[in-house]
Amino acid sequence: MRYETAAIHGGRDTSGEQIRGESFPIYLTSTFTQDGVNDFREFMYSRSKNPTRDNLEQLVAQLEGAKHGLAMSSGMAATALAFSLVKSGEKVLINSNVYGGTCNFVSHVFCDRGIDFEIVTDFANCDFDAVEGNVSTVFLETPSNPLLEVTDIADVAARAHAKGWRVIVDNTFMTSYLQRPLDLGADVVVYSATKYYAGHSDVIAGLVVLNDDQVFDKLKFNQKTLGGMLDPFSSFLVARGIKTLPLRMDRHEQNALAVAKFFEESRAAKAVYYPGLPSNPGYELQRRQARGNGAVLSVDFKDEYDLDAFCHALRFIDLAVSLGGIESLVCCPATMTHEEYSPELQAQIGITKTMLRFSVGVEAIDDLLEDLQKALEAAKR
Ligand SMILES: *Cc1c(COP(=O)(O)O)cnc(C)c1O
Repeated sequence: MRYETAAIHGGRDTSGEQIRGESFPIYLTSTFTQDGVNDFREFMYSRSKNPTRDNLEQLVAQLEGAKHGLAMSSGMAATALAFSLVKSGEKVLINSNVYGGTCNFVSHVFCDRGIDFEIVTDFANCDFDAVEGNVSTVFLETPSNPLLEVTDIADVAARAHAKGWRVIVDNTFMTSYLQRPLDLGADVVVYSATKYYAGHSDVIAGLVVLNDDQVFDKLKFNQKTLGGMLDPFSSFLVARGIKTLPLRMDRHEQNALAVAKFFEESRAAKAVYYPGLPSNPGYELQRRQARGNGAVLSVDFKDEYDLDAFCHALRFIDLAVSLGGIESLVCCPATMTHEEYSPELQAQIGITKTMLRFSVGVEAIDDLLEDLQKALEAAKR
């Protein structure tokens, strides 16, 4: 079964069931009746296992060609679940621009757990033999957020495994439709399903996908015991969103490339960050390791553009954090998503006050381009 077909027909096997709805139902129940004190059915209590969540978990695993999937109550709960593998006394390497919440996690939660971390600005040129400390884990987000830098997953995974380290990839910007980190050697993949998987900006959800049975047992235990699993209603929404993921993603990408080219050709941008542009340093690598470029891009504007005026003048592109929904959004990473990064770190990695990040939606591209053109005219000082 190919991806587009699996997105629609995958999930739990319902062939043995009496009622077979075309869409998988929402089992809004906390508990399930059992046959005897020693005779239990597959489902017992919804924190452990719920049919609607199980349908989603099987679906995302199938789509990724993976053995196991876990659905969590948010992308951060998925990241937290993956980080539950890291023990006190260990160290995590992480790339320099990652999701703001992930940065918060490593800088404010790790210290309480006695876990160390180090930000790596360029994994390609990072000599793992020279890294100090008791490293156990590498955490990558590629393309990165908000600079869309591309990291070679296969290269990092091979070198990390040679050292006995585990590799976790946050694949939110790509989804398994565009990039399959497990096939490239990653051990655990995490997602904010709030974004492209669910796709309609109406639910908060997270996913963890992996192959290793032992690691899965540990994560399954922690999902149940720490209690951050996804509820049935949200599980339904994510599974429903996935049915149109390939369709949406194709359109998102077409639109994003057009928007990136628009900015590259406009006189307003100092720089455009999008791995689908041949001028981008990550272009070749992205083509090699992924099937596409996604639809998040960042633009550094020239100083004569008033960003507030620009955002207010936009009619179809709303000023809001988040990404991956059908509607186009714009935000200012320096103040809205990466404000927890110190000014020094922002400056070091290139997050400027003149930068906006776009999540390009699936609207008619001509409406988006006209909107951007008008807003640029309104924003020029
Ligand atoms: C949004 C996001 C997260 C966090 O997901 P939530 O669902 O908001 O908890 C993690 N990683 C990336 C790349 C994201 O975009």
